[in-house]
Amino acid sequence: RDFSRAWAHTSSVHSVNEQDVEHFTKILSSPSSVISTLSPSFSSSSDLENFNADWMGKYKGHATTVLKPRTTEEVSKILKYCWERQIHVVPQGGNTGLVGGSVPIQDELVISLSNLSKVRSFDPVSGILVADAGCVLESLSEHIAPHGFIMPLDLGAKGSCQIGGNVATNAGGLRLLRYGSLHGTVLGLEVVLPDGTVLDQLSTMRKDNTGYDLKQLFIGSEGTIGIITGVSILTPPAPKSTNNVVLALPSFSNVIPVFKATRQHLSEVLSAFEYFDRTAYDLALKHGHAAPFPAEEVEGAECYVLLETSGGKKEHDDEKINTLLETILSDEDSLILTGTLSQSPSQFASLWAIREGLTEAVSKEGKAYKYDISVPVSSFAEVVGTVRARCEEKGLISRGLVKHVIGYGHVGDGNLHLNVIATEYNDEVAQTLEPFVYEVVASHRGSISAEHGIGVMKTHALKYSKDAISRQWMRKIKDLFDSKGIMNPGKVLE
Ligand code: FAD
Repeated sequence: RDFSRAWAHTSSVHSVNEQDVEHFTKILSSPSSVISTLSPSFSSSSDLENFNADWMGKYKGHATTVLKPRTTEEVSKILKYCWERQIHVVPQGGNTGLVGGSVPIQDELVISLSNLSKVRSFDPVSGILVADAGCVLESLSEHIAPHGFIMPLDLGAKGSCQIGGNVATNAGGLRLLRYGSLHGTVLGLEVVLPDGTVLDQLSTMRKDNTGYDLKQLFIGSEGTIGIITGVSILTPPAPKSTNNVVLALPSFSNVIPVFKATRQHLSEVLSAFEYFDRTAYDLALKHGHAAPFPAEEVEGAECYVLLETSGGKKEHDDEKINTLLETILSDEDSLILTGTLSQSPSQFASLWAIREGLTEAVSKEGKAYKYDISVPVSSFAEVVGTVRARCEEKGLISRGLVKHVIGYGHVGDGNLHLNVIATEYNDEVAQTLEPFVYEVVASHRGSISAEHGIGVMKTHALKYSKDAISRQWMRKIKDLFDSKGIMNPGKVLE
């Protein structure tokens, strides 16, 4: 793709040079915070590789230098210098993003937040947690668990992704149905603006109605208007009782009636309702997950759903889930083929592992073209079928260029993860899929990015979900914060 438009927003760009590296080494407290091919202490290019490649191995940058500041003040000094010198920067969290936002396009300076990893405070009465942006999501869960709280978001990448990256991408994940989006749970942010100014919006108040809510602009901004260094977030009490069940459905058309019955019967204790089609399930098993059913019981299954309850009293929740299962099983339309209700914490974990492991199973199977879209739940299977038919029509499947077209996702949120698994990233596959997939999404008045963001992958497709006036205002906001265009160029906006 041609990124000249993105670069045109910057009046003059400077690549990092030896004097810059010398300066960074002086302003950062530890010599290990500077990794650069331009530094005399540079040992091996493999030190830079992980920062230049994204999780899928799809996007590769050419950064010569990575900085790993330890404090907000260090981030501020770096950005002040980059602002004056007009050096492009890419903020990087856990580098688990799926739209290529966290790696450079050319030789931008990478600022990794991984050394900003302290919990600043936790209030065990209100559940309000204040943490450095580089704290890994799972480590925050472990920090608050002994106090009886959980993080309001959970995702398959929890062992690597950082809370700052989660906020920067407005990550959704597996608990959104119950606890809502980060736009509601994030109470405050500390952000270093492109010119190095520290914007302190790190409120720990649930209510603050004092004019424009600036922090909301940074939630989902993907590192294009500032670097998040601190996050204040409201965490909910851990449920006292949890259950999960995986149901095998003979037909996709049964998903909606099962979802309706589930909401009616489980109401306030329903915490997740996830969907995966037959091929996705088979891939999870192929790549190491334990089968919850004997194969012969699910021979005719077209898809599966996983539902979870989280509540305050085991007997109450068990009764609700049993009533639901009895209702579904006795339905004259044979809504399900079979189901497995977890009987132990380890079985609970292994049922979740099938769903959580899908992203990883897909990446083991081949090179994935990932479309994380919002469309009406009733059209999930139709959308997957339409894209598969397109691949067949273009001969991509018969010629072995595309191995599978699968769908899984968060039914409760109307979010489908459409994955086209190819043998390699290839122009013919890309051109078959785009803009076709975005046109299909637009025909349903859906969103081209339900939760992964725009990154570098979808800048050219933003028009399918945001009209010209919305895009103009997005550009004005970007220019307001970053008039020199140094922050994450080529991401979100062209
Ligand atoms: P990175 O990948 O490092 O960065 C992502 C973007 O945020 C980049 O544009 C980067 O520049 C910017 N950024 C990072 N840190 C900061 C910061 N401190 N300040 C400013 N900008 C910053 N996503 C979901 O929404 N839901 C899911 O269920 C989900 N499941 C996943 C499962 C797997 C196995 C994987 C690999 C990914 C999954 N993702 C999911 C995508 C990804 O994990 C999320 O987008 C996550 O929030 C990214 O966090 P990160 O720290 O890795 O950020």
